[in-house]
Amino acid sequence: MKSKEYMDRTEQSVLHTYNRFPVVFEKGEGVYLEDVEGKRYLDFGAGIAVFALGYGNREYEEALKDQISKVIHTSNLFYNPPLMEAAEKLVKVSGLDKVFFTNSGTEAIEGAIKVARKYAYLKDGSTDHEIIAMNHSFHGRSMGALSVTGNPHYQEAFKPLIGGIRFADFNDLESVKAQVTDKTCAILLEPVQGEGGIYPASQEFMDGVRKLCDEKDILLILDEIQCGMGRTGSWFAWQQYGTKPDVMTCAKALGCGIPVGAFVLNEKTAKASLVPGDHGTTYGGNPLACAAVSRVFDLFETLDIIAHVKELTPYFEAKLDELTARYNFLAARRGRGFMQGLVVTGRPVGEIVKKALENGLIVLSAGSDVLRLVPPLVIEKADIDEMVKRLEQSF
Ligand SMILES: *Cc1c(COP(=O)(O)O)cnc(C)c1O
Repeated sequence: MKSKEYMDRTEQSVLHTYNRFPVVFEKGEGVYLEDVEGKRYLDFGAGIAVFALGYGNREYEEALKDQISKVIHTSNLFYNPPLMEAAEKLVKVSGLDKVFFTNSGTEAIEGAIKVARKYAYLKDGSTDHEIIAMNHSFHGRSMGALSVTGNPHYQEAFKPLIGGIRFADFNDLESVKAQVTDKTCAILLEPVQGEGGIYPASQEFMDGVRKLCDEKDILLILDEIQCGMGRTGSWFAWQQYGTKPDVMTCAKALGCGIPVGAFVLNEKTAKASLVPGDHGTTYGGNPLACAAVSRVFDLFETLDIIAHVKELTPYFEAKLDELTARYNFLAARRGRGFMQGLVVTGRPVGEIVKKALENGLIVLSAGSDVLRLVPPLVIEKADIDEMVKRLEQSF
């Protein structure tokens, strides 16, 4: 069967919520994907910042196969070994204390919202608490996560959303302060905004928000779903700012392809929020998902992924800066580590993404005008050179 037939038949039975690119992927190896026609694509999108280890990592696959032949699912009514292992490793690298595993990023955000509401409820018994989120943020598509996503375009048709959400401007501490009331229970932000257009937080903003939260006993929720898991050169982006959250959300690269997310709490928050009966999930943290998470942490250690990202970042950034200098329609580069954006002016970024695909290169867009590069964390210099070559062909 050729691409055309797959595409036509897919459109007949899959709800049309995506304008998919006309490519049908069949398999992957390393940092390349291959479509059903046998054409290979250098992947600087990594399944939207998911496939950090690249495709076909043997040890990762062995962990999944081993777990499949033991047990895939048991429910959260019981214990299982991978759950313990995955949670211990996430606690260790985050320096936080308690983990709740979910199936996706949006569910991790839902959990974090419930944690914040319950924490505040236990303090004063009232049920009108507010959360401050950022304009241009992205936190997911379920109703709670959509409610804190600062993009009216995604929200409009689905109102009424959950109440008590206020929006402030990212990297503008005064605008956050202006939204604080005596009902504020949490401030939620991405240390590096992803979907919104690759905007790293400033140090002053992170410091200021942390201080504000401490002064008023407001929970700081950091969404590390896209910028976490080594992508910016530390386990989590907040670690480079030194601003530890009370609650952190992760997903995307956490399972490197197995659908899994988590919200992670510090001791203070864990002791005074969710208790048995407050929250649950049938699948969340099931043995297969946790076997993936556990092996991902092991492989990050043995492959020294974070040191690799740190080491290669200056080269990656220099190559992108060269492009920005060479092409007038590239206005700027923004980003941290292997989460980079090129601001495109005067032509639609979607055209470049499409052209790049024709030239065997996967890149993404973000916001309205940003070319987003979120490659697997195992890329080498030669892959960066090849990316630059294919991207220039696409200009
Ligand atoms: C992708 C993303 C989400 C939503 O995750 P899903 O797994 O798609 O539900 C939330 N927050 C951020 C920062 C993301 O990048």
